[in-house]
Amino acid sequence: MAAKYIERIFTPSGKHFVGDGFLVQNVIPGSQGLSMERMSPFILLDYNEPHYFPPSETPRGVGVHPHRGFETVTIAYKGKVEHHDSHGGGGVIEEGDVQWMTAASGVLHKEFHEKQWSSKGGIFQMVQLWVNLPSKYKMSSPKYQTISGKEMPVYPIGDNVSEVRVIAGEYKSLKGKASTFTPLHLLNARLQTGAGTDFSFPPEFNTALLVLSGSISINGKEKVQANQFALFKNEDEEFEISAMEDSETLILSGEPLREPIAAQGPFVMNTRQELMQAFDDFKKGKFGTLQD
Ligand code: MN
Repeated sequence: MAAKYIERIFTPSGKHFVGDGFLVQNVIPGSQGLSMERMSPFILLDYNEPHYFPPSETPRGVGVHPHRGFETVTIAYKGKVEHHDSHGGGGVIEEGDVQWMTAASGVLHKEFHEKQWSSKGGIFQMVQLWVNLPSKYKMSSPKYQTISGKEMPVYPIGDNVSEVRVIAGEYKSLKGKASTFTPLHLLNARLQTGAGTDFSFPPEFNTALLVLSGSISINGKEKVQANQFALFKNEDEEFEISAMEDSETLILSGEPLREPIAAQGPFVMNTRQELMQAFDDFKKGKFGTLQD
């Protein structure tokens, strides 16, 4: 079978702060022409590469803000994130854990470095991914899924130090715990130098990978380094990655929604009218209340 080839490799062009606690490079939609539609259902990806935050008694982060129409997926690689929301939910996303928040009809939430962690400071590394919801689920009830690192099925590779961990979807028949509204796969590969593995996704799925650390080669050809995002063509199914040095890679593949996107700020809807409604509902306090 023909290998699935890369369409384009994106190299992020700059970082910005989200609040004062997340120093991210925006990968999707990004500044280089990668549209929300092109990677649907993954409509936003912010990557906070390892960054040292000095101790702070006042935790850094993002204050109260709304979301509607999609899901936020927070992957804590290093450091801890504490969150609270207008439905009374809250908790700490520990290192290695994932929080899958379905904002759907609407939540207010805030996201900060966990208090104790903040008081000591340290290296912080995180991914936040936005997964779009199809029209029929955009106004469904908000919910949370906490997926601890321990609950993720692990596919061992070679020396058993290398592995692929399943956050959502499946890998070689191992199924992730996260429930999703549309078919998608979210996998995290840790490979030691020389270790490799292969992936297979339907050609029509939008597929890409983000190298978080180290470097890999794809199909024995293209080299992709830390912070680079490789987008695959919507052709063929299988590709292979191997580690040129110890590396960690996030792999995303999902069935595109093929619905119009009307997005502004924290809201992602299908039409301009729904977007205006979201701003209006937010102003009228329909997302609930949450203290600063
Ligand atoms: Mn948020």
